[in-house]
Amino acid sequence: MTSFDFSPKLNEYLEKIQDETGREITFQENTNLGIKGIAAAYQYNPQKLIIILNPEYPRAMEDMERSIAHEATHGYILYKLGFCRSRYPEGVPSEYKQDVQIIFTIVEDLVVNKIIQDNGFPPFGQEYIPTLREEIRVAREGEKAGEAFYHQFTDNLHREALLMISRYIIAWGFLNYYKLEVADRNLIKEFTRVFKDYYPDYYLYAAKVVEVLEKNNIFTSDGECQAIYEILKLFKMDEHVKLVNA
Ligand SMILES: [Zn+2]
Repeated sequence: MTSFDFSPKLNEYLEKIQDETGREITFQENTNLGIKGIAAAYQYNPQKLIIILNPEYPRAMEDMERSIAHEATHGYILYKLGFCRSRYPEGVPSEYKQDVQIIFTIVEDLVVNKIIQDNGFPPFGQEYIPTLREEIRVAREGEKAGEAFYHQFTDNLHREALLMISRYIIAWGFLNYYKLEVADRNLIKEFTRVFKDYYPDYYLYAAKVVEVLEKNNIFTSDGECQAIYEILKLFKMDEHVKLVNA
């Protein structure tokens, strides 16, 4: 592992992940991580756990450490817990792959954030609650305003829809699986309420995703894989991807 000035807590956590997965954690830098505003990302590699940091997004140290713990945990669920990943035939467009990756991220993040919370890291970054307040305000202006808001993170309309739906699922996940402060819980609940009321077209899909998540135990490898498969089918995105174990 490249040595950084991490806290003992993070170093210990990363070492545990390296031990349990038998893979070294390495860091790279890249400014283009698919969706704007992302500070760090996990990149699949059969031998290593690669964490890509976005140098354009310097953050408060605690938040950066949380992001790194989060990304490393994507490797942990793949190699230690046996969660599945995507495989594509030759010639599949990268735009499609990135959309499939969003579906993976939606489901995996519910598990990953829970694991890091259990290991003493905050389940969400410092920006989550202020952003959610803004999203509640925007939602009350209706679907057009919502679409414009999420458009600032991606130019791709399909991805914009997935992004909107993912915001509901993340919030739903926190309410269903996590220990939260009362004030945070109430705000997150409020977001799910306004989303349902003001984004009916998107809520329709979000509710179907929730149905899939309730049916499958996503904290197990089989349940996670099945849930991702069903969500890809729901969005008619399952045609060119195979779900395989690492
Ligand atoms: Zn993630």
